[in-house]
Amino acid sequence: MSYSKEDIIRMVKEEDVEFIRLQFTDIFGQLKNVAITASQIEKAVNDQIMFDGSSIEGFVRIDESDQYLYPDLDSFAIFPWRPSHGRVARLICDVHDPDGKPFVGDPRHVLKRALKRAEEMGFDAFNVGPEAEFFLFQTDDEGKPTTRTNDEAGYFDLGPLDHGEGTRREICMALEQMGFEIEASHHEVAQGQHEIDFKYADALRTADNIMTFKLAVKTLAQKNGLHATFMPKPIFGINGSGMHTNMSLFQGGKNAFYDPDDPKGLSKEAYSFIAGLLAHVKGMAAVTNPLVNSYKRLVPGYEAPCYLAWSASNRSALIRIPAARGQSTRVELRSPDPACNPYLELALCLAAGLDGIEKGLTPPPEVTENIFDMNAAARKAHGIDSLPDSLEEAIHALEADPLVLDTLGEHVAANYIEGKRKEWEEYCTRVSSWEREKYIINY
Ligand code: ADP
Ligand code: GLU
Ligand code: MG
Ligand code: MG
Repeated sequence: MSYSKEDIIRMVKEEDVEFIRLQFTDIFGQLKNVAITASQIEKAVNDQIMFDGSSIEGFVRIDESDQYLYPDLDSFAIFPWRPSHGRVARLICDVHDPDGKPFVGDPRHVLKRALKRAEEMGFDAFNVGPEAEFFLFQTDDEGKPTTRTNDEAGYFDLGPLDHGEGTRREICMALEQMGFEIEASHHEVAQGQHEIDFKYADALRTADNIMTFKLAVKTLAQKNGLHATFMPKPIFGINGSGMHTNMSLFQGGKNAFYDPDDPKGLSKEAYSFIAGLLAHVKGMAAVTNPLVNSYKRLVPGYEAPCYLAWSASNRSALIRIPAARGQSTRVELRSPDPACNPYLELALCLAAGLDGIEKGLTPPPEVTENIFDMNAAARKAHGIDSLPDSLEEAIHALEADPLVLDTLGEHVAANYIEGKRKEWEEYCTRVSSWEREKYIINY
């Protein structure tokens, strides 16, 4: 969809829109918005809406607080879950400084900068399809989340075992009304765990879509008396939630990862892209897996990766190449989780892959055995390294990777590291229920 300012003004009038939410995302991946009324739409499409950037985490200091919202007109969509009279629409915005320049701390700008690099290297699209998993939890009498899942069902189960069918149906229909193409919706492996997949698009649109997806899932779960969470590992002992990220580069409208003459049907670019991801995945982890809790998902035995390897089919590997070839040839990175900031995540995935292509890196041989069954000696013999074990280790790895620092830019990197370090320190000083259960009687 390509809209002009006039289209937006006309649609606001014709569609009985009363409020327009101007949205953006902070560096820690939280969606933010300000609502304006229809009377202000002309001002909004002319990039004249201002806000206080100093109140947004990781944005600017109080002495330089004025920032402007420049709406991406093509992102215009109406929230189907809001009233049908005096409707509510949204526009996703870029954040700009008062001098008109893009704000260096805007995650959307970080992704745009990375995409420019791909364009300079002759690629016309970086396509991405995410698989964001989530849990539905029951709520208490006050509507607060409990730790009880909404059902006990498992992979691909259906009603009456699957109690999430109705909510998933509403999410799918709402997203379709907002222009998404939904490809699949199903119960996941863990009790109360669900997945809805939507069609891939260019990375900027996909990052926007992920933010919209999370908002729709949380909103419609709440309407159904449930609490949806994208927390990576809400329950010990069962699968956590990942956001596998399927990626491909296109050149002249063709999938640049496909080569029918290669035994595996993969091009030189695809192999180098994989090698680039493997080279930087540890430095990227603090972004792809941003929470203290993220590292409790990345343990053996729950379909989440922990070791650095790639394979054409092996789901224990960090990078899998799904069987589809031709235009669907893609690289699936399995480490990211849905708590990440998708703009920063995709900027880093792209930069890492392009670095591999630029340097002509070749990946190690693929690993076809189940890596979870290998002991440390077997992994060492295969030269298989591991992902960071904790957020702290991930922060160190980020600080040690110049490509990751450079892709985020000084402002985002510094603020991100500072925020994540605080989070880690806070966690380290808290006394958890595990400690009490383990020590209070015996000591
Ligand atoms: P899995 O086999 O891991 O369960 P799914 O079939 O659930 O994978 O998800 C596949 C995702 O990959 C979807 O979002 C789909 O749109 C996306 N996809 C398909 N082709 C491409 C491509 N060429 N580039 C990027 N993503 C793609
Ligand atoms: N939930 C698993 C994870 O944490 C993935 C399951 C799947 O392969 O879909 O990554
Ligand atoms: Mg899944
Ligand atoms: Mg997958």
